[in-house]
Amino acid sequence: MYRTHTCGELRIAHAGSTVTLAGWAARIRNLGSMAFIDLRDRYGITQIAFNENVGMDLLSMVAGVGREYVLQVKGKVAERAARNPNLPTGDVELIVEEFTVLNPSLTPPFTIENETDGGDDIRMQYRYLDLRREPVRNNLILRHKLAQSVRNFLSNAGFLEVETPVLIKSTPEGARDFVVPSRMNPGQWYALPQSPQTFKQLLMVSGFDKYFQIVKCFRDEDLRADRQPEFTQIDCEMSFVEQEDILQTFEGMMKQLFREVKGIEFGDFERMTYQDAMRRFGSDKPDMRFGMEFCDLTDLAQGKGFGVFDSAESVIGICAPSAAGFSRKQLDELTEYVKRPQIGAKGMVYCRFEEGMPPKSSVDKFYTPEQLAEWGARCNVKPGDLLLVLSGNLHSTRKQMNELRLHMGNLLGLRDPNVFKPMWVVDFPLLEFDENGQRWHAMHHPFTSPLPTDLAAMESDPGSVRANAYDLVINGVEIGGGSIRIHDRALQSRMFQLLGFTEEQAKSQFGFLLSAFEYGAPPHGGIALGFDRLCSLFGGSDSIRDFIAFPKNNAGRDVMIDAPSAIDASQLSELGLK
Ligand code: ASP
Repeated sequence: MYRTHTCGELRIAHAGSTVTLAGWAARIRNLGSMAFIDLRDRYGITQIAFNENVGMDLLSMVAGVGREYVLQVKGKVAERAARNPNLPTGDVELIVEEFTVLNPSLTPPFTIENETDGGDDIRMQYRYLDLRREPVRNNLILRHKLAQSVRNFLSNAGFLEVETPVLIKSTPEGARDFVVPSRMNPGQWYALPQSPQTFKQLLMVSGFDKYFQIVKCFRDEDLRADRQPEFTQIDCEMSFVEQEDILQTFEGMMKQLFREVKGIEFGDFERMTYQDAMRRFGSDKPDMRFGMEFCDLTDLAQGKGFGVFDSAESVIGICAPSAAGFSRKQLDELTEYVKRPQIGAKGMVYCRFEEGMPPKSSVDKFYTPEQLAEWGARCNVKPGDLLLVLSGNLHSTRKQMNELRLHMGNLLGLRDPNVFKPMWVVDFPLLEFDENGQRWHAMHHPFTSPLPTDLAAMESDPGSVRANAYDLVINGVEIGGGSIRIHDRALQSRMFQLLGFTEEQAKSQFGFLLSAFEYGAPPHGGIALGFDRLCSLFGGSDSIRDFIAFPKNNAGRDVMIDAPSAIDASQLSELGLK
């Protein structure tokens, strides 16, 4: 037996018993006549003590032990003279009697501590060492708990976990595919799935009724902090359901996750239409942890001689609570912030509403204090608040104001990672017009059904049609999305047509689905939740990478195994690529 206990297990009740531990030397303090080693494993850290009673040979062996050596230690559990309240095992130590080096180690390239001296790159290169650090390990433990809770919930609700293929067919719709050459079919390629969408729909045609899968998906997109080329979805589909059934089911799942993993209870999740979300927050994923709702000042701001506002389609304000005291420098910084090319505002107007003083704005030349007070009243300003105003065309102004609102939320500390505000955004547009390509795109995907009430408008005014689609948004992050699907062959064909597919293209790319719809496809719908994002949200972090055991870097590289990489000439020729 290598060990009788783990390094996280021993307590004062074990005092006096003889135990064997195995683990890694996290910290070594050799005082000559006495030595201590912090022995670490997945479960925790236990102090190992070599004291005067130990023979000199053991003590001299300690002198040869380096950090991260793998050790096996047998000895007696004893109460510590100086207890360490920061460690669960801190009341005891192990007095060494026998001691074996199971494997030596090179000195690690960074310290394996909660606060490490290693930068991002070196930690990714030695990810197996980084994973020994407690915070990183805890992230993966959290991930495991969430996966277990999801499986339990869905399995108890009658969902079947079914695997779908990873080598599938490339389709130009959606993001870019990763492709894989086929040796046995020279010149032909598989694609890795961007999602199991069509397969889960086929499973509904097969009568599986409730499907789920915690599944890897692949998208060859430019990377951002919250994106990885391969990522994991909780992918689900149900038959004989309407939108309400799906929302209820997955709201129930989220409530269980929050209850089991975070100990938080929720009432009904807020629901908001896409239109309202855009109007009130300029975003289809509003962060509801704080207010600062948009207020439309167009009518009040125009016609007073201020050209910038007069020529704008829209003038929008937000009220930043208790921020009237922002210094000139801070306000200049805010203006610079919104003028950055990524945001693109031309400028920003502000108005301070200080207690007992008339409103003071950056456009006092054009507006009387009474007029500014009207702005304040419109935006529910309280004494001490700061009103920030942007203008321009409606669409851009909303987008810019969304950025400014989130930025102010950060500055004012209103985006607490320990507060969770889940919500559903519903009634997305079915289509969005691509000005460059002069064609319609499916906003969600081409299998999404229109709202029954909007069906007729598919012919007369496609842009106005709302989809039977929904997103789960938590704290301004899109955690998942889905829709009720089209299950009627004729409607699916019409949809492909609207999206600019010729009949042949639709057949060659999705013929299998259109055929399946002719063999009794039930009404169905589903959702997919981004599992990596869910983990980072529960872990209070913005970075999904911290919750993936072996993630890729911003260039899509795995720097540990050095992938992607060139392949042998012989492999290339076997694949017919040379
Ligand atoms: N397959 C969709 C996606 O990956 C989600 C869904 O509609 O279920 O976004």
